[in-house]
Amino acid sequence: MPKYLSAVLAVLVLAAGCAPEPNEVVVYSARAEQLIQPLFERYMAQTGAVVTWATDKEGPLMQRLISEGEQTPADLFLTVDAGNLWLAAEQGLLQQAQSAVLNRNVPAHLHDEAGRWFGLSVRARTIIYSTDRVDPSQLSTYAALGDAAWQGRLCLRTSKKVYNQSLVAMMIAEHGEEKTEQIVRRWVANLAAPVYSSDTKVIEAIVAGQCDVGIVNTYYFGRLQKKDPAIPIALFWPNQQGSGVHVNVSGAGIVKFADNRPGALKLLEWLSSETAQAEFAALNLEYPVNESVPSDPLVAAWGDFNQNLINVSRAGELQSRAVQLMDRAGYR
Ligand code: FE
Repeated sequence: MPKYLSAVLAVLVLAAGCAPEPNEVVVYSARAEQLIQPLFERYMAQTGAVVTWATDKEGPLMQRLISEGEQTPADLFLTVDAGNLWLAAEQGLLQQAQSAVLNRNVPAHLHDEAGRWFGLSVRARTIIYSTDRVDPSQLSTYAALGDAAWQGRLCLRTSKKVYNQSLVAMMIAEHGEEKTEQIVRRWVANLAAPVYSSDTKVIEAIVAGQCDVGIVNTYYFGRLQKKDPAIPIALFWPNQQGSGVHVNVSGAGIVKFADNRPGALKLLEWLSSETAQAEFAALNLEYPVNESVPSDPLVAAWGDFNQNLINVSRAGELQSRAVQLMDRAGYR
């Protein structure tokens, strides 16, 4: 190498060392490390951008964004559940992204109408049943799990989990508060056991014969099915004659005080693209938000279903009413 060239390089290296990395995108993620790392590594290899990330639960990450304010190093906030994304936007932690790419890749009901956050994977919260003890022709809707036929046969996860708060919030959006409270009361009356702390425990309780039906996110079933393909449990798609299956998202939005807004937008667009979507969804056995991308074969084998098309931001708007309703109805 000519001497002058190595001198130029040395100056460049020095400049890179003291100036902030212009290519760096900093992500705060409540989506688990193992679900994002392979994608960020691929993005870095493909684009030459640098992605750094911190993972934690959504509560502490939002608290951190609030206390860091304008000083935050974060450019992009990634989390699960529309309820959490809605809350982040409501607290002023996110900014609007105007992007034809995002509007094309993410269906309208799966992103904030103002563009402050966008779904990146779809999770369906559906009915599961024992294939030993339930004939699926007996199943129809979420509401019908309150029928006398399911007395002492229903298992549910705790109402403290945001997934159930979002489910009930979307039921309020559909049925109104009074009817939803009646439905939830009837569920509670049908419980076979006190509420469980996780979706996985609900599935395991059905396998163990403690109950026959439950409501879970499909990827928890997928994980168990992957370990034991003969697991005597199947999914049922409810409300197919009406509103459709309750869906939620994991997603992301650009941080209000992002230093690297263009970099954050580029990464967000890439995550919604055909290049990234199959892997983003498959890593957690979820559904791609981008409808031109096929699901993982294990997921696709569960069959197609109509999803509820009410904007998932309603889950956030109605969350506190859902929490109070479940409390009144005795759903712990
Ligand atoms: Fe989950």
